[in-house]
Amino acid sequence: MKPDCIIIRNDLNGKVEFVSEQTEWQHKWEKDILTYDVEYHDSLKLISKRQLKRAVNLAISTWNFEIPLKFKSAWKTQADIEIRFRTKEEDNYFKDKPSVLAYAYFPGQGSVSGQVVFNASYIWDLKGRGIRGDEAIKKGLVENAHASNILKTYNIYAVLIHELGHTLGLKHDVSGASDGKDIMDPYYSVDNLDLSDRDIYRIRVKYGQRVWDRFKWYNIIKRWLSLAIRR
Ligand SMILES: [Zn+2]
Repeated sequence: MKPDCIIIRNDLNGKVEFVSEQTEWQHKWEKDILTYDVEYHDSLKLISKRQLKRAVNLAISTWNFEIPLKFKSAWKTQADIEIRFRTKEEDNYFKDKPSVLAYAYFPGQGSVSGQVVFNASYIWDLKGRGIRGDEAIKKGLVENAHASNILKTYNIYAVLIHELGHTLGLKHDVSGASDGKDIMDPYYSVDNLDLSDRDIYRIRVKYGQRVWDRFKWYNIIKRWLSLAIRR
């Protein structure tokens, strides 16, 4: 089955593939609790196992604060949402389309539903600000680079939050309905880390709105989250 997310590098102007039409995906998860699981990959030299787990938890929280679904780390069972890293040598899709950063499957696509695959041939980190060539060699990320050249790194949060949106059943936002950035835009952007009003609207239409005892808490916790993913 063809993955439905094509999030591409933002330096390939005009080469976007719009897989989606402008209608919403019809399916969603028909259960109250979703399990998730992330598998570490040795290519992640700039993100520790602990940091990866934390990043996944924060990215899930980003969506979870808006909707009443519950998310639980999978324990010895097949997870609904599975996050994996594969190099272009390990994954045929990346081999064919090396400019794709990650892809994901929607709910209602059978056994592949909820799968997220990151392209481990790129350098992932927590900030997406790049790494010096000499540092990258020292970390074992590349074999050759000019010492003072800055190599591109990709912010794992930006792509995680986007891909999780797909696993919950959101397509790319190609409506142009909002002026600014949306998490579900099909382009990678290093500082696109917060759900837009339109992202929030779309996910609530699908799953309903999470009810907070006090609206104040919603705002406080959202602000905390926004800072946590930028720390
Ligand atoms: Zn996408």
